[in-house]
Amino acid sequence: MAPLSIDLKAPNGTKYTQPTGLFINNEFVESSNGELLTSIDPATEKVIASVQSANAADVNKAVKAAKAALTKDTWKLLPGSDRGILMSRLADLIEKKRELFATIDAWDNGKSYKEAIEGDLIEAVAVVRYYAGWADKTFGQTISTTHQKFAYTIRQPVGVIAQIIPWNYPLCMAIWKLGPALACGNTVILKPAEQTPLSILVLAELIKEAGFPPGVVNIVNGLGKDAGTALVNHPLVDKIAFTGSTETATSIMGAAAKTLKNITLETGGKSPLLVFDDADLDQAVKWSHFGIMSNQGQICTATSRILVQDGVYDKFVKNFVETTKSVSKVGYQWSEDTYQGPLVSKAQYDRVLQYIDIGKNEGAVIATGGSPISVGSEGKGFWVAPTVFTDVKPSMRVFQEEIFGPVVVIVRFKTEEEAIALANDTTYGLGSALFTTDLERAHRVAQEIEAGMVWVNSSQDCDPIVPFGGVKQSGIGRELGEAGLEAYTQIKAVHVNMGNRL
Ligand code: NAD
Repeated sequence: MAPLSIDLKAPNGTKYTQPTGLFINNEFVESSNGELLTSIDPATEKVIASVQSANAADVNKAVKAAKAALTKDTWKLLPGSDRGILMSRLADLIEKKRELFATIDAWDNGKSYKEAIEGDLIEAVAVVRYYAGWADKTFGQTISTTHQKFAYTIRQPVGVIAQIIPWNYPLCMAIWKLGPALACGNTVILKPAEQTPLSILVLAELIKEAGFPPGVVNIVNGLGKDAGTALVNHPLVDKIAFTGSTETATSIMGAAAKTLKNITLETGGKSPLLVFDDADLDQAVKWSHFGIMSNQGQICTATSRILVQDGVYDKFVKNFVETTKSVSKVGYQWSEDTYQGPLVSKAQYDRVLQYIDIGKNEGAVIATGGSPISVGSEGKGFWVAPTVFTDVKPSMRVFQEEIFGPVVVIVRFKTEEEAIALANDTTYGLGSALFTTDLERAHRVAQEIEAGMVWVNSSQDCDPIVPFGGVKQSGIGRELGEAGLEAYTQIKAVHVNMGNRL
């Protein structure tokens, strides 16, 4: 029998006890067949810890726990303001352990500790606080219909929610999902990505400590094909909220159709960033570098297609390449000056290198990078040089397909119309950005781009109070902001007859 917790010491010296069980009914438990998932440090390829891996029988237990919690008075009758208090307490507990969470996500995922502590942890706490504030504000309406009749609506929870998340922002993705679901009174079974199971189990401890009743949040680590599929097909699951690849989303949507489960999907992207001749070029270079090279390029909204107008193309490419060389310092997660850590896994490393080969074979030109690199003396880790392709044509796969790594393509355009056509020449529609000092052009182009989000003279801005999500094959529904609540309530209409019985 594997232990349900293990004492660990991270490379930055942090010591802590890592829970390793499945979290069901506020307890850590073993999987029914003893299967384990092993998490590794992508910089050293050394094992960090093994955690219990759920199969269909374990998922069934977790779903039943969530279903039972939904109807227990401790959750069902809890006033929204009290749910908000629990969530505020959870936000405080996460904030107190922010260094620990940043350490675990850097270790497990490969992102730099600096990015985790200054980005992910600020965001995670802010999102829980934001939705804590909504917990007592999801009202219905009163609607007069005729003289003696009226109707009112109530917003009720959707029910038992299965939430399936990816590995690129492990804690944040969990929080984005849990925040609105709990604020609206649902119960949850969350399945983290198999590559990054660790921080979410520490979060589970805090959920219990904050005082959430048993069964309200259940966490089942496991493989997509086992735990994920079992969740998606479970008859007691009312809704599936998924973030991950478009390919997986397609299969989830198909499975959900069988019992007409409610879904929200946040999927992939190939987001364009447009630089017009009149742009502030220094700003355009700074933000476009950040937009593709931060988080190792493993960002669903990465602005991975840069489109540059003729008049500034050569200067932009020169400055972008210089910035990439000077800013994108590749190194271990723990160094203050590391900008880019290792990619999350061998599979992701192979995938990104394969795309670099595809680009070369298609005739795109490597302006910098284009190969694996080694860091340290042991020859370990999944490091890829930040890579810039120029001379790219829209027909090329590197222009069309999501690479999900530190690889960008730069394309030249002549007119605004051509820029919009190039930007929209994709099956995706998640993020987009444009750089111009012409106010009218900025808003005109923002209207025309087929994307769920547009950044004007910026890239990757994200705030808990602003809706996030995509169009076309980048998703269905929105997260964050007031719009994020829509996914987790359903409206019931109650018609009242005040006397007219005809
Ligand atoms: P993935 O689709 O392989 O996995 C995502 C999650 O789905 C994991 O938890 C996995 O175990 C689970 N899963 C896999 N197959 C499943 C199945 N058949 N049934 C149920 N669950 C299954 O994606 P990934 O490689 O982990 O993440 C990268 C992708 O996620 C990229 O395409 C990226 O654009 C996307 N992403 C999107 C957003 C967004 O908000 N739009 C955010 C982050 C990542």
